[in-house]
Amino acid sequence: MAKPVRSARETFRVPRGEVDLAAIDPAGRPVGPKNKAAAAAAMAELNERIDSRQQALYASAVAGHGPRAVLLVLQGMDTSGKGGVIEHVGGLIDPLGLHIASFKRPTPEELAHDFLWRIRKQVPGPGVVGLFDRSHYEDVLVVRVDGLVPEAEWRSRYERINAFEAELDEQGVVVVKCMLHISPQAQAERLLARLEDPTKHWKYNPGDLDVRAKWTDYQAAYADALRHCDTDAAPWYVVPADRKWYRNWVVATLLAETLEAIDPRFPPADFDVEAEKARVRAAV
Ligand code: AMP
Ligand code: MG
Repeated sequence: MAKPVRSARETFRVPRGEVDLAAIDPAGRPVGPKNKAAAAAAMAELNERIDSRQQALYASAVAGHGPRAVLLVLQGMDTSGKGGVIEHVGGLIDPLGLHIASFKRPTPEELAHDFLWRIRKQVPGPGVVGLFDRSHYEDVLVVRVDGLVPEAEWRSRYERINAFEAELDEQGVVVVKCMLHISPQAQAERLLARLEDPTKHWKYNPGDLDVRAKWTDYQAAYADALRHCDTDAAPWYVVPADRKWYRNWVVATLLAETLEAIDPRFPPADFDVEAEKARVRAAV
């Protein structure tokens, strides 16, 4: 009997309770392709699965069958590959059905508002797949590690994030959250690669080393964010990210499985197809 294959959603869902990121191997490959060539073949298949479902999602939303959308949140340390996922997984989606937002250090205007203000403005519309490069989770990560607001304030945000994501779920926005889990060794290699290559110097920020120096604090902040904000309405997944091809395959598979669970259907024509064919042939 063939061994039942565990879905990516089961395999990579953050474990319940206390989250020990150190126990999750950033170079692990528990399911799926074993090498880069196999991953490339798998990505071609995922392209089909994702593209057809996204089109159906859009078509059914336009036809008024529920304003459903998908929001893929990407978080991870510098060089963990948020940009790479946007390029390689975003690239599997029709650009018209894609909404990408990246969240940098807040502007003075953004800081004058509640932390969710700038996030709400970027929630994908009906039928669209949204990709967030960083997110409202920065407000319990960098903000916590660097003490940018009092502890009582950032601690209150876990509950507010859960309420916000539950609200999205009620609106039909399916939230999928991926932590790109990289080892400090892999990060060092990627930072050095950036320094070796003049065409990558623009990506290098000397301040990234200050963040790297706080690795343990960041892992603790991530563990708490994952523990407090993993809900069935908006699950967290930990994606092994030391191998780029495996990371891309995992995120693409999580997206495909999510779209398949939504199971959007192309709406039937609200006109007489045969009559329209006759009209096309008769015209001109
Ligand atoms: P990058 O993604 O490399 O372009 O860097 C964006 C920077 O913006 C990172 O250093 C983030 O930590 C920072 N950032 C994003 N959101 C926030 C936030 N809410 N508060 C403070 N810093 C943030
Ligand atoms: Mg950066």
